[in-house]
Amino acid sequence: MVYMYLTGNDKPSYRTIINFKNEYGSLIEEVLVLTIGVAREAGMVKLNDLAIDSTTIKANSSSSSIIKENNLELARKIIKEGKETDIIEDEKYGDKRGDEVPQDLTLKKKIKKLIKKVTTEEECVDEESIVFTKKEVEKLDHVYEELEKIKETHENKDKEFSISLTDPEARWMKNKKGKIEQSLNIQNIVDVEEGIILKSEVVQDPTDHHQLPIQIEGLKEILENDLKETNILADNGYNTSKSAKYLHDNDLNGFMPNRAQTSAKKNKIKKFSKAQFQYNIEKNTYTCPNNRILPYKKTYDIDGKKRKVFYTKDCKNCQYKEECTPHSNYRIISHYSTNYQDLMSQKNG
Ligand code: SF4
Repeated sequence: MVYMYLTGNDKPSYRTIINFKNEYGSLIEEVLVLTIGVAREAGMVKLNDLAIDSTTIKANSSSSSIIKENNLELARKIIKEGKETDIIEDEKYGDKRGDEVPQDLTLKKKIKKLIKKVTTEEECVDEESIVFTKKEVEKLDHVYEELEKIKETHENKDKEFSISLTDPEARWMKNKKGKIEQSLNIQNIVDVEEGIILKSEVVQDPTDHHQLPIQIEGLKEILENDLKETNILADNGYNTSKSAKYLHDNDLNGFMPNRAQTSAKKNKIKKFSKAQFQYNIEKNTYTCPNNRILPYKKTYDIDGKKRKVFYTKDCKNCQYKEECTPHSNYRIISHYSTNYQDLMSQKNG
């Protein structure tokens, strides 16, 4: 819509936009930095409160463009060995998508045909060699590089991975409706007062857990400002021990609600839910809705995470026992946050 508005209702093709972005990506970033400079001179960037947030957008990728790791590796091997294929110059076909030409087959279909041709037991599926343009071969190399990046960051290396041929930078991510699809995660930092976007970056991280330090460090560089006088606001998705430690170590004033505080804001709390139990960081105790103190009892190590446990013997004779802990004589509260996150929760109130 923005492009259409700027170009007087012209509709640039997806390919034109992508080509422009690929060619002038660094220039676009420079222009964004310049606009921030202009906005600062105009007094529109106050840096009192910054909000970091993300949005997940669906990639330009359909299920028919997804290729499995094994097929991608096999296709590259056959092409590199020069078997059953012809590699031709792209110029012949002009500025087309590269996955539409030649032989009127998409890149995925060509790969499928190539693999069938090489692996089938039957007599030659097709006498013709399968034609790839140089751009397509380069594209397969790029897709493979992206696949390697996915594997590097994934814990289970034995898993069979898959990737999009049309948007290899995309990753499997959960959207707001809980559906997992090929998407990109866009991180934005906005100066709250005037709503000026100070930083916008497309990342491949499916969650926001690691993004706060990365994005804030990037912004500090752009603004040449240590942001020590600025409030940094982020939602619960950024609230990890790593983010809280980063804010603390860098003397930055951050506000990130924990899960209980987010639920409280959404009025989701039931009378005896954990969010109604107040944690006291100095005394290391919880206070329950009936004003009883639950002292700290023990710490368990679960998969590298510390689980602190709190309970009181007062529950046995409590008038709310049936509502609060119907199946046990003790209401046990588990606490997983680190000290940095506790300090953050205390500050958020
Ligand atoms: S059952 Fe225990 S934890 Fe629950 S309200 Fe009563 S004393 Fe507090």
